[in-house]
Amino acid sequence: MAGFRTLDDLGDVRGKVALVRVDLNLPMDEGRASDVTRVEASAPTILELADAGAKVLLLAHFGRPKGQRSSVMSTSMVMGDAERVLGREIMFIPEVSGPVVAQSIGILRDGDIGLLDNVRFWPGEEQNDPEFAKAIAAHGDFYVNDAFSAAHRAHASTEGLAHLLPAYVGRAMEKELKALDAALGNPQTPVVAVVGGAKVSSKLAVLEHLVTKVQHLIIGGGMANTFLAARGVDVGKSLCEHDLAATANAIMDKADHAGCTVHLPYDVVVAKEFAANPASLRTCNVHEVAADEMILDVGPAAVEALADVLKTCRTLVWNGPLGAFETPPFDEATVALARTAAALTQDGSLVSVAGGGDTVAALNHAGAAGDFTYVSTAGGAFLEWMEGRELPGVKALQS
Ligand code: ADP
Ligand code: MG
Repeated sequence: MAGFRTLDDLGDVRGKVALVRVDLNLPMDEGRASDVTRVEASAPTILELADAGAKVLLLAHFGRPKGQRSSVMSTSMVMGDAERVLGREIMFIPEVSGPVVAQSIGILRDGDIGLLDNVRFWPGEEQNDPEFAKAIAAHGDFYVNDAFSAAHRAHASTEGLAHLLPAYVGRAMEKELKALDAALGNPQTPVVAVVGGAKVSSKLAVLEHLVTKVQHLIIGGGMANTFLAARGVDVGKSLCEHDLAATANAIMDKADHAGCTVHLPYDVVVAKEFAANPASLRTCNVHEVAADEMILDVGPAAVEALADVLKTCRTLVWNGPLGAFETPPFDEATVALARTAAALTQDGSLVSVAGGGDTVAALNHAGAAGDFTYVSTAGGAFLEWMEGRELPGVKALQS
């Protein structure tokens, strides 16, 4: 991968100590991880290094302990889950630097894996304190970052270490960077972006960037309501940020100038109450929404037109569901468009990249995630990347 060193660039690592930043910030349910996707993502990197004979020291954060030790936020909480996913035993090391770490490295054999404690127990982590980073770096021969999801933070374990040791991109991070490059860095055109969901204000920066990058912008979800209202459409009781009208209009103007076509729904699914299959459910033109109704999904005619847009494009980047997909039937537009994107990807005519917590859930719900080119589980980092921001953890790895 141009500009980065990957594990392919490592020489003989036998007996060397690899400091590997991974994402072990697993969602927990009664003391067990309810989802181990993040461990699975980094398993190839960890096992490749271990199998090559390195002593692998895993470095991660877990929760927000704010610079203090907390037994419930120890990485030992997820060690069992990590061992199960990796199929290996792990040695827990309740520090990130100092004599305990040095002694533990002495006990580890080549190919063994150690897990350091929550790096956020020390204030130097989030402060990106060079002395803290140096104390950790002293134990390693090289550094591997495999946690794209934490790359938007300039912390000691995500950024500082990369300047102190020979730094390499892990396999999961490598896959993510390649997918993102194919989506917005050097994409095949035309590119279409789908942006939906509920976090309207925090995603306006995303739209502002995207209109200069993509040829088609499809807006759905609560985001669409805000844009429709800005255009003077009465959206009734819909989730909508009316005070953002000026910004929404400015984005639409910017899109015009940049040659980006903005697609807003022209039919919508509405209801008077937000519940599954409500009695008041109906589909109507966007100009016919009553004052006591809410727009909860994009309508079927619009979805068909949006599917046609996807068919003319070569690249898709998607963040945010088109409707309130957790509650039927307001999942229909998201499911239909996700399946169209999945089918086009499988036909080889579309490169499809998606990210965002609820987006991943929606694509899984549609049974489409596996057929996308790449689905990112990095929430904040993915959005910052969609805003066109440089991620400090990625930048520090550039060679
Ligand atoms: P992501 O996590 O993928 O970035 P968001 O958090 O921005 O996405 O938004 C996801 C949420 O948006 C979902 O819970 C979904 O129910 C909600 N949503 C989408 N469309 C609407 C709508 N029209 N009205 C209310 N909520 C909506
Ligand atoms: Mg969300």
